[in-house]
Amino acid sequence: MKYLDEYRDPAQVKTLLQKIEELVSQHWVIMEICGGQTHSFLRHGLNTLLPPQVELVHGPGCPVCVTPLEQIDKAIAIASRPEVIFTSYGDMLRVPGSSTDLFSVRAKGGDVRVVYSPLEAVQLAEAHPDKEVVFFAIGFETTAPANAMAVLLAQRKGITNFSIITAQVRVPPAMEAILQAESCRVQGFLAAGHVCAVMGFHEYLPLAEKYQVPIVVTGFEPVDLLQGLYATIRQLEAGQAQVENQYQRAVSEQGNQAAQQSIEKAFQPVDRKWRGIGTIPQSGWGLRPELTAFDAELKFEVQDILTQESPLCIAGEILQGLKKTVECPAFCSECTPQNPLGAPMVSSEGACAAYYRYHR
Ligand code: SF4
Repeated sequence: MKYLDEYRDPAQVKTLLQKIEELVSQHWVIMEICGGQTHSFLRHGLNTLLPPQVELVHGPGCPVCVTPLEQIDKAIAIASRPEVIFTSYGDMLRVPGSSTDLFSVRAKGGDVRVVYSPLEAVQLAEAHPDKEVVFFAIGFETTAPANAMAVLLAQRKGITNFSIITAQVRVPPAMEAILQAESCRVQGFLAAGHVCAVMGFHEYLPLAEKYQVPIVVTGFEPVDLLQGLYATIRQLEAGQAQVENQYQRAVSEQGNQAAQQSIEKAFQPVDRKWRGIGTIPQSGWGLRPELTAFDAELKFEVQDILTQESPLCIAGEILQGLKKTVECPAFCSECTPQNPLGAPMVSSEGACAAYYRYHR
């Protein structure tokens, strides 16, 4: 398949591994931002083929993992109401809240449905005017345009029984928070190609300059990942700190302008709490003041729900690149995909799920 097979070519993978081996002269810590990249590294065993001087750490780019526990509890409280049809992407249904999850709400009779797009939720609202339809709007910049379109469509059609829980986050402020931490070990980044396909990479230029860190926009296939790593290591070895674009087949510097305009019409940057990390200034998208009628937290008055994380779960440290999943004492004992303590064990992009599946 074009744009796939050539990026899984074993000969190219071998050549790139050889080039990295020849290039690297010292220990470098490189973070892949996206959980999809983490899964690809582990699924293809690339992490075991790299020279020992190249240390990969896994970033916070798993939207399910960084959604705060209280946001899940709020979703569960709303989904449990008899007048609500609660809609979400499938991943969120199994993520444990503090006492239950959305699957259990459905098992007890709640109307919880998986949708593939927030526009489906708008259609449901149109079809069920006697119900309140709520969509769980999680995700990074990749899902924000569709969420924005759903809200704008509902507004245009005068649909008043549709609302969203906004738990959307932005990558650049999270990278800055990681770089500002005293404990930061990250020396180079593989930026998430799909996020940059929407937003472009112009937002990363000041970060590379300010923190003197190379950032390479990278795709998700084995050849993409190794090209991204090679470019990052080449910069590190040369003492450079620039933004490079490995994922040129999908990403331009300015990104998808139409998608960005949709986001700006519906959302504005707000401070956002990240699970296990804390509040990062301006790291989320919140509904614009004129669209708060679509804010499910306000509509159902659940803003005050607060929750404590499991003390066993070290997901926050993993998402900042400070620890690896295998260092978590609960990994494969108290915490498994069947009985997850934290979201990274549940999400299809979660680092702990990747280690459980490919690296036990
Ligand atoms: S293995 Fe489980 S408990 Fe440990 S960090 Fe991952 S999700 Fe949390």
